Amino acid sequence: MKKNIYLDYAAATPLDPRVMKAMESYLKEQFYNPSALYLAGRDARLELEKARASIADCLGARPTEIIFTSGATESNNLAIQGVMRQFPEAELLASAIEHKSVLAPARLFRTKQIPVTATGLVRPESLVELISNKTVLVSIGMVNNELGTVQPLRQIASAVKDIRKKRQRNSNKLPLYLHSDAAQAGNFLDLHVSRLGVDLMTINGGKIYGPRSSGLLYVKTGLKLQPLILGGGQEMGLRSGTENLAAAVGLAVALGLAQKQRVPEARRINALRYLFLSELKSKLPEAHLNGPVKNSAPHIVSVTLPGQDNERLVMELDEHGIQAASGSACSAASVVPSHVLKAIGLSDGLAKATLRLSFGRATTQANIYQVIDILRHLRAN
Ligand code: PLP
Repeated sequence: MKKNIYLDYAAATPLDPRVMKAMESYLKEQFYNPSALYLAGRDARLELEKARASIADCLGARPTEIIFTSGATESNNLAIQGVMRQFPEAELLASAIEHKSVLAPARLFRTKQIPVTATGLVRPESLVELISNKTVLVSIGMVNNELGTVQPLRQIASAVKDIRKKRQRNSNKLPLYLHSDAAQAGNFLDLHVSRLGVDLMTINGGKIYGPRSSGLLYVKTGLKLQPLILGGGQEMGLRSGTENLAAAVGLAVALGLAQKQRVPEARRINALRYLFLSELKSKLPEAHLNGPVKNSAPHIVSVTLPGQDNERLVMELDEHGIQAASGSACSAASVVPSHVLKAIGLSDGLAKATLRLSFGRATTQANIYQVIDILRHLRAN
């Protein structure tokens, strides 16, 4: 049987066998509730705290700053709602191309959308202009999941810091926090929180070859959040529910591995991306790239093929053994054109002619030639 070519790593990554191995005993023998008082329960607590400490180490954070969640959607909700519920009169800024798990909770509050450039970049100047005396939270994703655009987070963090200082001088007591959804960044970019200058950061295990439905929110010491899930008070009162020890261990191992190999992996995948772009230019000259050529994460390409219908293309690619996405798989079976593509100025027609291909650990040069060949063949028919 012909092997499928998986080009949808931005939607889901397979579990790394090393992660699976690390998790196994916690799914089988060491299944105990970390809150149980007997020895096995106390051991489970110890292992949970080891996982938390290892993640903290990886992110340059303190263990008490790591809150385990069920993934990026929950972490984004906890960040946005957790801050904003305390300041009902205040304002939130989010870029127009954030994932829906940021934009939907943001809509519950007074929100201003930060416009982006034609390649999906947030200009720190446009952000600064929009920050008012009432802004308490700014949420900017580190890597856009549809375009691959990498945001200038350090510059944004430094602009936010300057405004915070000005506020102190003006006796404005409102806090100003920076949140970043880093769900698409963990395999390639540095996630060290103090180098980045973020106050809140979302990470998701299911995009870094870790367990699905695992994730975390980094919450800087001193930042107060209102919990969304109430109950037994686990996770420092911020996320009740029996802790998922196997998922926490898996997430810790996956994050450690991803961050350790991120530089050579970024180099390898970037070379594949450039190969794809040069093949695209010569073999399908009418196609155009939506994200930036340079300031992009290596794994994502968003390509518009004018005159084509992306859903039909995805189905036909699938028949040829290639698994790709029309826009983003995270917005489920949405038929409305992607808000991200609309925000960068694409018409409905062009948005509906756009494919997202995303590369990962098993992607090879041969796969790139194959997908270009098949796209050419489909276009001709
Ligand atoms: N944020 C970004 C940038 C994403 O790409 C995704 C999913 O693709 C999510 C959030 C939501 O992640 P999850 O479905 O695992 O909660």
